[in-house]
Amino acid sequence: YSEEDNADDYLFKIVLIGDSAVGKSNLLARFARDEFYPNSKSTIGVEFQTQKMDFDGKEVKAQIWDTAGQERGAVGALVVYDISRRQTFESIGRWLNELHTHSDMNVVTILVGNKSDLKEAREVTTAEGKALAEAQGLFFMETSALDSSNVTAAFETVVKEIYNILS
Ligand code: GDP
Ligand code: MG
Repeated sequence: YSEEDNADDYLFKIVLIGDSAVGKSNLLARFARDEFYPNSKSTIGVEFQTQKMDFDGKEVKAQIWDTAGQERGAVGALVVYDISRRQTFESIGRWLNELHTHSDMNVVTILVGNKSDLKEAREVTTAEGKALAEAQGLFFMETSALDSSNVTAAFETVVKEIYNILS
């Protein structure tokens, strides 16, 4: 028995989904290791990463999966598109269907518009992202794994909401 196995701990399974190259692996790398890979191809080494967080003095572990097809048992999801590629935004409905086929309807979900640093190349407005999130009952944030903006906030929004529901 050790602190690590404390029965009071929470372990939440969270999935990162969305089209290829929207920045899922880099969002996880930025969040868990504060790293960024400018030329990453497909998947960067890890299938999932466990990140500890603290809420009200309780330790919460988020097990974040960066592999398609891991939706079963997930209590949280980040559904990601690339603000500079409209096609990835148009895929969101399909990703939500996929998510709801394999997990509980109540899975806490945030819609994430990544690559907010690519201002000149933007193809999806912030208002469009917000409107879709509102229509689908999702949280919403624009992030940049490159310049770090909102990355921690996006993961924390999901984990905190799950914690609030369960505690
Ligand atoms: P995944 O296929 O969804 O896991 O996407 P990756 O994390 O592998 O990223 C795909 C490409 O987009 C890589 O070349 C990354 O360096 C780049 N990328 C990821 N996030 C960002 C971002 O926030 N801004 C910019 N400019 N590029 C990013
Ligand atoms: Mg990847």
